[in-house]
Parts: sequence; structure tokens; C-alpha cells
Amino acid sequence: MRVAVVGAGAIGLSCAYSLARGGADVRVLERGRVGEGCSFGNTGWICPALSAPLPAPGVVFGALAGMLRRDSPLLIQPTLRASFFRWSWDFWRACTSARYQAGLEATVELGRRTFELFDDLRAAGVQFDIHKSGMVVAATTQAGLAEYVEMIDGAREAGYDGPVEVLDAHEVRRVEPALSDRVIGGIQVRAERYVRPEQFTAALARYLRESGTSVEEGVDVRGLTRRNGPWRLDTGDASVEADRVVIAAGAWSPALLTPLGIRLPFEAAKGYSVTASGTGTAPKHALYLAEAKVGGSPFGERMRFAGVFDLTGTDSSLRRRRIGTILRTSLPYLRDWRPKEIELQWAGLRPYPADGLPIIGPVPGQEGLYAATGHGRMGITLAPPTGEAVCSLVLEDRTPEEIRSLGLERFRR
Ligand SMILES: Cc1cc2nc3c(=O)[nH]c(=O)nc-3n(C[C@H](O)[C@H](O)[C@H](O)COP(=O)(O)OP(=O)(O)OC[C@H]3O[C@@H](n4cnc5c(N)ncnc54)[C@H](O)[C@@H]3O)c2cc1C
Repeated sequence: MRVAVVGAGAIGLSCAYSLARGGADVRVLERGRVGEGCSFGNTGWICPALSAPLPAPGVVFGALAGMLRRDSPLLIQPTLRASFFRWSWDFWRACTSARYQAGLEATVELGRRTFELFDDLRAAGVQFDIHKSGMVVAATTQAGLAEYVEMIDGAREAGYDGPVEVLDAHEVRRVEPALSDRVIGGIQVRAERYVRPEQFTAALARYLRESGTSVEEGVDVRGLTRRNGPWRLDTGDASVEADRVVIAAGAWSPALLTPLGIRLPFEAAKGYSVTASGTGTAPKHALYLAEAKVGGSPFGERMRFAGVFDLTGTDSSLRRRRIGTILRTSLPYLRDWRPKEIELQWAGLRPYPADGLPIIGPVPGQEGLYAATGHGRMGITLAPPTGEAVCSLVLEDRTPEEIRSLGLERFRR
């Protein structure tokens, strides 16, 4: 069976990997370069303990109040787009306890086997580093600590089964000596891991190519049509035919689905990162800075800090002021680590459905067309399980249990 996968981010490449191993004749079509979308400069965490969906009871008032602060992690650009109003309305409606709980359970369920699947990738010969030092949440206020204790406890109640320890100020600095005296406590989540995401996607693409799967760069899919036969993907000068198509185009997925009459409440949420060498005591763990809402990953001699959530459409330009926000709000957590040389400043667009949950399933009314997108802030964590689930959908016409609530039908009114 010929399967075209549109998009070579973590999700598209993971789908291609599973589909190719399942025996499909796969072509990955990427309009830019492999892994250079949202999958590039993020912190690379494999963090099922943070499965809580963004829409949650009280989150809207909390976020709007927070926006009044200088250096708020949230920025909303006023817009009159009808699609933004629909997204905001649907986001608001997803903030009930019942929907939050259901979303949390669904995300934990999808991520349940992710550590094992990452190990399987390496065992199969996909060559990337995986860091297993665990994650430490650091808080400078009791309220910040309580928020994440509650969030991770919720994930445990929903089925996350990794060990979790709440630490006082002394203990958290013993575990992570890079933390400053302003940190009043933390949480150690030992099972969590991280990868360098650009290395991960490059490794997947290399593996695919070496095992005979075509991963094509500079191929912009402009539209999809199907009349009684295979799907035809318009790529400008030429077209590509496929029996089945997986749309894994990240924040740009609506551009391919809307012309087919599929309107999803979907926005891009821009985040930024800065990767730098530094002086002083560098962190040894993946660090989540609770009040700043910034994640940090040590990559060898360098640290990468990433965060903020800007609802500014699909504009992926880099605003240096937001990079400044990340550094200004992170450094007080650190004893004496300070950036020396900046290697990379980056902006990426998280694909964000209004209910904060991935969209994985057949596209209703479009036989042979599937979506694998909308992974928000969890696209690295959930990439291998998404690939595995998509393989069952596409090659066996079977919907695995863990994605039953993640299909497109949930947006039908
Ligand atoms: C600051 C930040 C930190 C993050 N940290 C983490 C983390 O630690 N852990 C985690 O799990 N997640 C994290 N995320 C989220 C994660 O990065 C995303 O969920 C994930 O990268 C989405 O992957 P994707 O493959 O869906 O999208 P992308 O990586 O954006 O890939 C989509 C690809 O499709 C291509 N494309 C689009 N349209 C077309 C077209 N018409 N034709 C051909 N190609 C097309 C694009 O060029 C792009 O390469 C973070 C995100 C941000 C912004």
C-alpha cells in the first residue's frame, strides 16, 4: 500500500517509521527541511507526568490575570479572525473538571508505553541520545509548588506510574545543586527523560532513508484530491499519488484540511527557546521552573531554556523580547549559571486544538485520509505512540483503544 505522510516533524517521521515497519510503501513529503518545524528547538522532554491538558478549571482567569504582569508567559494578539473566536470559545468550554479529567486520562493512556517505544527505536538502530537523569520541578513559591504537586498527583491518579518525590528546599538543592536559594521546594520525577529533538528527527529521517523509505524535502503539498481512485497530492510542478495519506503538518494542518470542509478549532501557540553555553554550575536534570513556566534541558556543555505561549497566529518570527522573558524569568532559579555564548535562538509553533488534546484518526467523509496532529506541548513525548496508533489505523483499519477519544468526530457539533 502506498502511503504519503505530509510533514517531517517528530509526528510525521514517527508515523512513517511505524508504517514502513508495518510493510507500507511510504513517502514523506516535507516542504522545508526535516525536523525544522516545531520539532526543532524545543526541550525534547519525554514527560508523561505532565500530561495535564492546558484547558483546566480556572486556567482562563489565571492566565488573563497573569498577562498583566511584565514577562507574562502568555501573550495574546488581538485578532478578529472568526476561527480564533471559535477556538477561544471551545477552549473555555473544555475547562470543566469533567473534560479536564477525561483529557488527562486520554493523554496518560496514549503516553503509557512511550519510554518503551523510545527504547525500541534505539534498539532497532535509530541513533539518537536519550537522557535518563529525570525531571526536577523547582518552585520559588508555595503556590507554584502546590500547582505542580496537584498536577502530577492528578497524572498518577489517571494512571501515570513513575516514582514522584516532593522535596523541601534543602532536598531539592541536594538533588540539583545548580538551584539558587530562592527555590523553596521541588518535585523529582525520576522516570522522565529527554532527547535533543533536532537530533531525534534527523536520526529518524536517516534511518528511514537508509531502510528504503523516501523522505523528500522542499516538497510543498498545496492540496489533496481524490476521485474514485488514489489520493492525488498537488505539489506544484507535479503531483504525488497515494492510496492513503497521513496529514502530520503540525500547526499548518488546517491549511490542508479546511479546503476539504474539515474545520477544526485549531491555533498555533508560539514558543521560544534559547540554547547557550554558560558559566557557573550547570543543571544536571531536565528542570521545570514552576512560576516562570520555563523548561530547561542540559545538552552537553549547553543549556536550552524554552517556554512562553504566544497566540499570534501562524507567524513564526522571532521576537527577541520574548527570548529575554525566558532568560529573565529563569535565571533567578539558578545559583550561578549564567549564559556565556548563545548558540541558537528559536521560535516554533505548537499545533494546538482548543481542547488541548492530539487529533489522531481518520478524516470523516474522506476515505483513506488520516490526521495525526495537534500534539500541543507534548509532541515529542507522544510521537512514537502516535506513530504506532496511526499504523494500526492506516494498515489494519483498526482504531486502538488509546486513541478512541482523540478522533476528529469530537469536533462535530
Ligand atoms: C518552546 C517549546 C517547547 C516544547 N517542549 C516540548 C517538550 O519538551 N516535550 C514535548 O513532548 N513537546 C514539546 N513541545 C511541543 C512539540 O515541539 C510539538 O508538539 C511537536 O514538535 C509537534 O510536532 P509535529 O510533527 O506535529 O509538527 P512540526 O514539527 O511543526 O512538523 C510539521 C511539519 O510539516 C511541514 N509542513 C507543513 N505544511 C506542509 C505542507 N503543506 N506540505 C509539506 N510539509 C508541510 C512543516 O514544514 C513541518 O516541518 C514544545 C514546543 C515548544 C514551542
